[in-house]
Amino acid sequence: MIYYKESNDNKITCLLCSYYCDLKDEQIGICGVNKHVDNKIECLVYGHISAFNIDPIEKKPLYHFLPTSKSLSLGTVGCNFHCNFCQNHGISQEKEIDKSSYTSPQRVVDIAREKKCASISYTYNEPTIFYPYAKDIALEAKKYGIKSVFVSNGFESSEVIDDMKGVIDAINVDLKSFSEKYYKTKLGGNLNQVLKNLIHLQKNGIWIEITTLIVPTKNDSVEELTKIVKWIKENLGVNVPWHISAFHPDYKELNLPRTSFESLKLAHDIAKEEGLKYVYIGNVGYENNTVCPSCNTNMISREYFNVKSYSLKNECCSNCGTKINGIFWKNQKET
Ligand code: SF4
Repeated sequence: MIYYKESNDNKITCLLCSYYCDLKDEQIGICGVNKHVDNKIECLVYGHISAFNIDPIEKKPLYHFLPTSKSLSLGTVGCNFHCNFCQNHGISQEKEIDKSSYTSPQRVVDIAREKKCASISYTYNEPTIFYPYAKDIALEAKKYGIKSVFVSNGFESSEVIDDMKGVIDAINVDLKSFSEKYYKTKLGGNLNQVLKNLIHLQKNGIWIEITTLIVPTKNDSVEELTKIVKWIKENLGVNVPWHISAFHPDYKELNLPRTSFESLKLAHDIAKEEGLKYVYIGNVGYENNTVCPSCNTNMISREYFNVKSYSLKNECCSNCGTKINGIFWKNQKET
């Protein structure tokens, strides 16, 4: 894929996200890291990693994608959104790119192999803004059977989503609100595009899980939560896992309280009532197990991000044989 195209008046359009920034020579886009240089778009953060960790895949969070595995997780600086409550604002809103070290795609994959990671996650900041780097890593990783995971705000361009097919295996998308106005004024991007992209990602065979951070007074009304849940059910289906996550004051959003347990439980109950099969409140240690939707047997027990027991058999409930949706190890032993 070529990540840009010519536009009018000697401008170049960046095709990495749905802003489609039209950039004149030397201009940098909204994300702060893609720049028009000599009739091309240069991804200024290519190879310049800002954060690098080995995490359980459950921390992304992905609960139905190779449970118990390790994921080499990396991000750069920059973001195409500017959320007031960003918990990674130190890197996502950073404008300075530290070019003192360069990590080649091959080196990232070597580390993933050395550390026995089943996947590489592009996370911490928005990966679509460094897609040229992520894709080069993902293609190299594929040679060794290592999978690739996006943790994203869902504002990719449709060109990138088409290119992700067969390259990126799974994605966790933040569906941050169901208000177009809130997206436009407080977050970035737009709701309608994020919803279209979720459908497009699923159509392209990428395993999707969705996270909603419940922010007091911003997206925690029964009406809004119901709209989110109904949309997931009607457009993606009841098998898509929904992670409900608790807000804590951070960055510029310091005057709101932490999300109450009652509020998380309300979201959970609405989702179950509407028929979503897999609903999790992971980061407070409640409703964190994967339960067979047919016979209610506990298949995967978790304590926060640690898997305590696992009893799926070849992707199916070991009690009644119902298929559990997701991408699971074929012959993982029970624990
Ligand atoms: S990645 Fe998005 S925000 Fe950044 S320059 Fe490209 S179109 Fe603009």
